[in-house]
Amino acid sequence: MDTIKFNEPFLAGNELEYIQDVFAQKHFYGNGKYTKLCTEFIKAQLNVENVLITDSCTSALEITALLLRDTGKEQEIILPSYTFSSTASAFARAGFKLIFAEVNPKTMMLDVDDVKSKINANTTAVVVVHYGGYCADIYDFRDICDEKDIYLVEDAAQAFNCFIGGKALGSIGDFGCFSFHETKNIHAGLSGALLVKDNNVIDRATYIWERGTNRQDVLKGIANKYSWVEIGGSFYPTELQTAFLYAQLEAVEQNLAERKVIYDEYNAGLTPLKDADILHYPDFQDDYKSNYHAFFVVFNSEVDADKVRELLKENNVHAYIGYIPLHSSPVGLKMGYSADTLPVTEEYAKRVLRLPFHNQLTLTQVSEIIKLIKGCF
Ligand SMILES: *Cc1c(COP(=O)(O)O)cnc(C)c1O
Repeated sequence: MDTIKFNEPFLAGNELEYIQDVFAQKHFYGNGKYTKLCTEFIKAQLNVENVLITDSCTSALEITALLLRDTGKEQEIILPSYTFSSTASAFARAGFKLIFAEVNPKTMMLDVDDVKSKINANTTAVVVVHYGGYCADIYDFRDICDEKDIYLVEDAAQAFNCFIGGKALGSIGDFGCFSFHETKNIHAGLSGALLVKDNNVIDRATYIWERGTNRQDVLKGIANKYSWVEIGGSFYPTELQTAFLYAQLEAVEQNLAERKVIYDEYNAGLTPLKDADILHYPDFQDDYKSNYHAFFVVFNSEVDADKVRELLKENNVHAYIGYIPLHSSPVGLKMGYSADTLPVTEEYAKRVLRLPFHNQLTLTQVSEIIKLIKGCF
């Protein structure tokens, strides 16, 4: 059987044409025509006011961490251990103490009760990760954070163009971070975006984004000379990237429609195994519009997950386990965590299998994958 890849970067078609236009514009370094087009597109698509295009989701998380950090205080951040390293690194580097919380094994996303039990006087924010095209219990977290008067951050790296009750994921928290890495639905090789809810915070975010200067105020005519006003970074992409990204953004609904067909095929084929309690995966909430980022299943044991993964591999199908928990990784252990601090995460992470998912995947290939999985049981 021909190799079935886990991921293939999406191509929309107009990327090169727009990159050529960057050469005509002779503005390469960033924050030019295409950065502005991408910003306006995202504002309209997600119905939000404040968007900064970044060079990665990691950078969007780092800007958020810098905005929330008060170096005079001991500050804690609650986040899942079941996530990508960037979610943790961004806050650790800024000086926050990381408090890892469990996931709900039904969804592999942050567990509401465990988070509640970990909030204390030092808690600055809860960072929620939307995993695999699903939506975390975001309104529960919104309520908790409002009640405790702490911030809510959405690591929506995988959730661009997802909506719950018509509201975009990433726009319910105080900050929303998206990834346009080539392993995500739409991309620019590397890129990302930051949503900032509070109109009073977007200026500081913009200063941090642009190397800590108020250069944007000079360009707008609000200031005469630019100066150093924040401890910032170089967090935005070049115009070459945003030209690429703009072509991808224009194709975002086509991308979603193609992925829905693949998701539906997986879902139809695997529902009998779900009903037979051989594996599980989440249902979508009511009134939720997914971007169909991924298809993952959770088996009843690590043995089952390994058995399926190896059989798929023998048949040239690339399926992978999900995240390696952060609390029991080398950095987590150095922070004083041990594997048994989060037993649910530790156990269920081993049972997850992410199946191939990209826009070039054919329905015939999906059927072959399902047949192989069924053959294991
Ligand atoms: C991909 C991903 C990131 C990192 O995104 P980059 O754009 O590569 O920095 C962070 N968090 C989650 C949950 C991700 O899936």
